[in-house]
Amino acid sequence: MEPVLSLYDFLTRFPSEEECFQYFVKKRWPDGFRCPRCGNHAAYFIEKHRRFQCTACRRQTSLTAGTVFHRMRQPLLTLFWAVYFIATSKKGISAMELKRKLGIKSYQTAWLLLHKIRSAMASSQMFPLTGDAEADETFIGGRRPGKRGRGAEGKTPVAAVVETDGKTMGRAYLETIDAATTENLTSFLSRNLSPGVKVTTDGFLAYGFLSENFHHVPRVRSNSSDDDTLPKVHILIANLKMWLRGTYNCLPSKHLQHYLDEFIFRFNRRWKLESIFDKLLVRCIVTPSFTYADLTG
Ligand SMILES: [Zn+2]
Repeated sequence: MEPVLSLYDFLTRFPSEEECFQYFVKKRWPDGFRCPRCGNHAAYFIEKHRRFQCTACRRQTSLTAGTVFHRMRQPLLTLFWAVYFIATSKKGISAMELKRKLGIKSYQTAWLLLHKIRSAMASSQMFPLTGDAEADETFIGGRRPGKRGRGAEGKTPVAAVVETDGKTMGRAYLETIDAATTENLTSFLSRNLSPGVKVTTDGFLAYGFLSENFHHVPRVRSNSSDDDTLPKVHILIANLKMWLRGTYNCLPSKHLQHYLDEFIFRFNRRWKLESIFDKLLVRCIVTPSFTYADLTG
């Protein structure tokens, strides 16, 4: 198991704005500057505005333009700290905690920054699971005063799949779905599983289609047995619920996928803690920006 990137190591690597700036340049343009308008490779650096001006079309580009941090006014050092805290915190961090730790004046800004970094944690969907897997679905949220005991009302269905050899868990994916229908579950598993892998389910009707694409093992629980037929995916779901309850007080279903992405981002990198900061920073660079109004409107 790799060591975590310690606070000491982080501070040594990024003691000031300048180191953050150089590092961001290297990560954003690994092959050198590239103008977003004309594709030209050369630029003057305008020190006063910290912008790059293309030598061909003269367009000025800020370092964070086109990244998830577009138009955030905080110094890069603050953004790096935020990525570091979010990436390395085992349980996640609330907007209020981020505000306090980083000395951000407005709660809205801290909340927006947290959502921006969390959105960069979404799966790239380029690495479907390759090992044997267990799949199931669950319901999250919706438990408000006066709504108890009313079944799934107000809750969001979530599809879950985890790689397992029966003993340990590998990587996993979680997605909100409109309803546990054949169509939704097919789509979820087709995107997140490599063709031909063996997937075990509880035999729920909507999984009936699966045999065409995967080696489907419907495991129906017998009344005489207390054995959990899907032990690993149930552990994953239990861990998710515990984390959501422990870290976040209110959980609007509108943003639930972002929370699932955060959980999975950490879960799938729990053995790669040394590189988790770099990974998340690079994701922030390639993730499109959005504004406070986009999130709340
Ligand atoms: Zn240009």
